[in-house]
Amino acid sequence: MWWRRTERLTSYYLVANECGALTKRRYRCGLLWLSLACGDCYGWGMDVYNHPTFAMACQQFERVADRLGVPPDQRSRIKYPKRSVTVSLPIERDDGSLEVFAGYRVQHHLTLVATKGGLRYHPDVTLGEVAALAMWMSWKCALTGLPYGGAKGGIACDPRKLSISELERLTRRYTQEMIPFIGPQIDVMAPDVGTNEQTMAWMMDTYSMQMGYTVPSIVTGKPVALGGSLGRRESTGKGVAYLINRAMDTVGVRASNATAIIQGFGNVGSVATYALANFGLKIIAVSDVNGGIYNQAGLDTWKLNQFVAESGTVVGFPESEAITNEQLLTIPCDVLVPAALERQITEKNADKIQCRILAEAANGPTTPEADSILEQRGDIFVIPDILCNAGGVVVSYFEWVQDLQSFFWSESEVLDKLNRILEGAFVQTLTLSRKEKIPMRLAALSLGVKRVVEAKRLRGLYP
Ligand code: NAD
Repeated sequence: MWWRRTERLTSYYLVANECGALTKRRYRCGLLWLSLACGDCYGWGMDVYNHPTFAMACQQFERVADRLGVPPDQRSRIKYPKRSVTVSLPIERDDGSLEVFAGYRVQHHLTLVATKGGLRYHPDVTLGEVAALAMWMSWKCALTGLPYGGAKGGIACDPRKLSISELERLTRRYTQEMIPFIGPQIDVMAPDVGTNEQTMAWMMDTYSMQMGYTVPSIVTGKPVALGGSLGRRESTGKGVAYLINRAMDTVGVRASNATAIIQGFGNVGSVATYALANFGLKIIAVSDVNGGIYNQAGLDTWKLNQFVAESGTVVGFPESEAITNEQLLTIPCDVLVPAALERQITEKNADKIQCRILAEAANGPTTPEADSILEQRGDIFVIPDILCNAGGVVVSYFEWVQDLQSFFWSESEVLDKLNRILEGAFVQTLTLSRKEKIPMRLAALSLGVKRVVEAKRLRGLYP
């Protein structure tokens, strides 16, 4: 149950839970007031994660756990984050005023070597959203065989409204506050929405200054000049394009005849766009937070690249017509690539989507309700997010390994190793999906969750 309110203070009231029981609290979450579920709905004390994206991740998990036969008493241990940290981040704005931002870090499971996951700067970031993204990272790392638990972090801020020096102060303060909880063998961050190589450079510098020596392996996705890996910046988008190519082979779509649409033109979306254009696909629409552009004859991606570099947005690109992000999702095409935020494909538009392949470059772009509609339709081949965008964390793992060894690889070596891991994960997912006649998402999640369950079983329960 939801209430929209504008206050930003935490208050305590008696409210009805989703299960009908009463609880004494309401939880403030940005501008939204959420009713809290009790232990029977979300697990005792875990209501701090209450958020639609976290509920979505839990719903997916429960379906997989049912399929795998995970006993009910073990589910909470596997599902809920092991550790989550909320910090307040005071920084001085350029005008001399003081502003406090909320920062989060969630480490989903600590069963393997370290936790790994991105850092997001976006106004809608909440603890619940970050927890969902951390959970998906766990399944993704397990699916691709990486020795990590999932993690995610974020700061509720609009990076477009902060100057470079304000962003630097905010990033350094966040890193400072996180120092007790992170480390190359504990938790390693990387870029996500609203952050980039520069953000990682500031984090690495702040951490290293505190340690008294340089620690490149504290973050991945940093500039190559500071120990970053060749190929990391492009790895997620190139991985997306590689898997689309495999999906096209699987369903019999020829690249030279195919059209593609990309929602979100940031790091992942833009690299995927150029890679798909290189494979011969015609890019007919792209978008960013400002809106979309469309040309049925195909967008000139070379000119688009230059236009975005100068203007900072795809909107206004000549030789195209303006469309909204909602329209973009329902234009007929062979390949649709959501590469922006969660919950873009919902029960409201899932029956209107007209693509042959849905390549989930973003994390969580499709809600479970939309999933059931797509499953019933059966005409769309889905490359689920934990597989589709795994290229980023795979090359982050390579970067971490290279930093720990101080031994660096060529770009072709990185891309070759990346493609081999993606190929293995794709084949395993497709094989399970066909053998068990289950959707690709359920197959990918089953493989990932099963490995985490097994790792926890082998380690046992301490004490
Ligand atoms: P980014 O900040 O570089 O780009 C995000 C893009 O989405 C921007 O073009 C922005 O304008 C656009 N956008 C934001 N809100 C939008 C909206 N409502 N509609 C349409 N477009 C919108 O972020 P990114 O790193 O490219 O990440 C994109 C997605 O990929 C996220 O879901 C992220 O979690 C996922 N992802 C990223 C990586 C990585 O290596 N960066 C790895 C795995 C998954």
